[in-house]
Amino acid sequence: MNTYRGKRIVVLGGAGFVGSFLCERLLREGAEAVTAIDNLVTGNRRNLAELESDARFDFVHHDICNPITVKGPVDYVFNLASPASPIDYAQLWLETMRVGSEGTLRGLELAEAKKAVFLQASTSEIYGDPLEHPQRESYSGNVDPTKPRSVYDEAKRYAESLVSAFRRSRGLSTRIVRIFNTYGPRMRLEDGRVVPAFVGQALRGEDFTLFGDGSQTRSFCFVDDLVDGLVRLAASDVMDPVNIGNPDERTIKSFAEAVRAAAGSGGAIVSRPLPEGDPKQRRPDITRARTLLGWEPKVPLDEGLRRTIAWFRAQR
Ligand code: NAD
Ligand code: UDP
Repeated sequence: MNTYRGKRIVVLGGAGFVGSFLCERLLREGAEAVTAIDNLVTGNRRNLAELESDARFDFVHHDICNPITVKGPVDYVFNLASPASPIDYAQLWLETMRVGSEGTLRGLELAEAKKAVFLQASTSEIYGDPLEHPQRESYSGNVDPTKPRSVYDEAKRYAESLVSAFRRSRGLSTRIVRIFNTYGPRMRLEDGRVVPAFVGQALRGEDFTLFGDGSQTRSFCFVDDLVDGLVRLAASDVMDPVNIGNPDERTIKSFAEAVRAAAGSGGAIVSRPLPEGDPKQRRPDITRARTLLGWEPKVPLDEGLRRTIAWFRAQR
């Protein structure tokens, strides 16, 4: 792909799990400069360790709810800044709402000033506890605005609305990606999401903490596939929202069994209370990504889990 050769790119939230892989990919694509801007609230500079020696890469410690200044031209702004795990945003209620609203506004202002393409990381959570299955981009969702998860869901819905308003009123070139559950190396072991939770439990030989009866479903996408979707979307001219996720849907109970099989260790599966508002089902309809971007996921769950578990093992 020649799109990013010689381009200057800003990644908001670039020290996070997904953001750090995106920075690496953009540099591999021949970008002239990649600047990661992050306040490290859930991210870590360790994720960027391999990039720090690359003269084209730069890290700026900054809360994007404040005005963002970047020297020189910028061609693309990717906004990935936001707590993303239910445990994180349940400790960072107001920070999550602020970064989705004020932070997105600051990112859009930067893109407008630089005449850059702006890509917003949205989420399958904007569909809430979906009544349509699988979820197409035309589905407007089922979110209760006062439930605990709403700080994240509504902030992301507002962000989509703000991005659309900038496109309509200022003629900004924008992209919106609705990311479904993504996993891989560099997730934080303690971030509470099911992949690091179950992988950590498997490696320590502990019981798996299954929330509820485990009949709820998710569809897990390996991080390399997601990043490929992000770079394809930003390179396209598709302004409507696009789902990026792996349609391979699993019950959480069967997912615990898959982790145990891939790790070759782990205890019993024990039930814990289901968190309030936990969506019962989730699977992306990826027709739009397939037809408009020529994108589809390539890494099957067993292979992605093997790669993820190998990384977590190496960290121990
Ligand atoms: P992450 O927590 O690892 O990364 C988010 C990054 O944003 C962190 O480095 C954090 O420090 C930074 N950040 C948060 N608030 C900030 C602020 N005010 N100023 C500057 N930086 C700030 O999470 P992730 O899994 O890498 O998610 C990246 C993006 O993708 C998020 O926007 C998330 O909502 C979205 N997303 C992720 C998933 C997934 O499964 N990983 C699913 C749906 C959507
Ligand atoms: N989950 C679980 N045990 C855990 C962590 C999560 O059973 O230790 C469940 C959780 O209730 C949800 C699913 O796994 O049904 C995915 O949770 P995660 O937090 O990873 O993502 P999200 O709910 O945002 O899709």
